Amino acid sequence: MKPPPFDYHRAQSIADAMAVLAGQPDAKILAGGQSLVPLMNLRLVHPAVLVDINPLTELDYVTLDEDGTTRVGALCRHSRLESDPQILKHQPLLSHAARHVAHPQVRARGTLGGSLAHADPAAELPAALVALDARVKVAGPAGRARETSVKDLVTGFLATTLEPEEMLVEIVIPARPPQARAAFREIAPRHGDFATAGVAVELSFDRAGRCGHAVAAGCGLSALPVDLSAAVQPLAGQATVTEYVLREVAVNASRAFDPSEDLHASAQDRRELAAALLVEAIRAAWHNGGAADEEAT
Ligand SMILES: Cc1cc2nc3c(=O)[nH]c(=O)nc-3n(C[C@H](O)[C@H](O)[C@H](O)COP(=O)(O)OP(=O)(O)OC[C@H]3O[C@@H](n4cnc5c(N)ncnc54)[C@H](O)[C@@H]3O)c2cc1C
Repeated sequence: MKPPPFDYHRAQSIADAMAVLAGQPDAKILAGGQSLVPLMNLRLVHPAVLVDINPLTELDYVTLDEDGTTRVGALCRHSRLESDPQILKHQPLLSHAARHVAHPQVRARGTLGGSLAHADPAAELPAALVALDARVKVAGPAGRARETSVKDLVTGFLATTLEPEEMLVEIVIPARPPQARAAFREIAPRHGDFATAGVAVELSFDRAGRCGHAVAAGCGLSALPVDLSAAVQPLAGQATVTEYVLREVAVNASRAFDPSEDLHASAQDRRELAAALLVEAIRAAWHNGGAADEEAT
């Protein structure tokens, strides 16, 4: 299908984009177009104006602060998150998650800002950012700006606190503990499809080899990314990953959310998938830094 008619504005600067968004309530930002354009073609959304932010290359960056905080511009493509040396070194979980998004063609266009603003509950990157306790910077009309956590940004199925005249400009991810190891595991109907269930895990270890820090989150499980960090706390202080601890974590995870139901999985399936994927991801992160999920391309 073809989209309904719309006007097109090629943004010249962030200020220019903000001015159009402020003056036109039916305007929508066009980033990678990988979610917006299909929705327009299906006539599920019909913006009067598309504000194309692709020319704003100043929003495509990955930088590292002195304290280890990573800053990612909203226009950073998923493909860059897969392979950027700073992301690989300082935010390995983000790189693992990005490799599970769709196919290389989609990852070459889709952006981190677009994924967060679209807020599909099955999306991998918002879940990874919940695990990493990331924040976002949002620009508003007349130079206004605000900052919020990813957890507070996403409020439901395809729903966020973003106002129509606001633009997400930066994702801020706190420094990770040294030698953090990460893994992402998911199950989907076909390779490259949205996840029926997915799980992100990051672990770090002290000099004695004990797990010092464990965070996790899930996608595809509920209407929102699910924070599973409380579920993995039994790992903290452990020198080895025992079946007993993994069983405790699995039970915690299966009870940690209000599962969605659809033709791919029942609520009970999703509880069991969350538990099984989490155990698999923990084993992968613990033993080899999640390397096995390189298979996801
Ligand atoms: C075949 C296919 C398979 C896919 N599979 C997956 C998958 O497995 N996992 C997954 O996570 N995603 C998947 N996607 C979606 C893809 O990841 C998108 O790239 C992503 O959801 C949206 O990013 P985008 O840059 O393309 O945004 P767009 O499509 O351009 O925009 C999406 C929405 O976000 C808004 N928006 C965009 N940028 C901003 C901003 N900076 N500030 C405020 N609002 C903004 C737009 O106005 C629009 O409402 C798939 C897409 C396709 C076509």
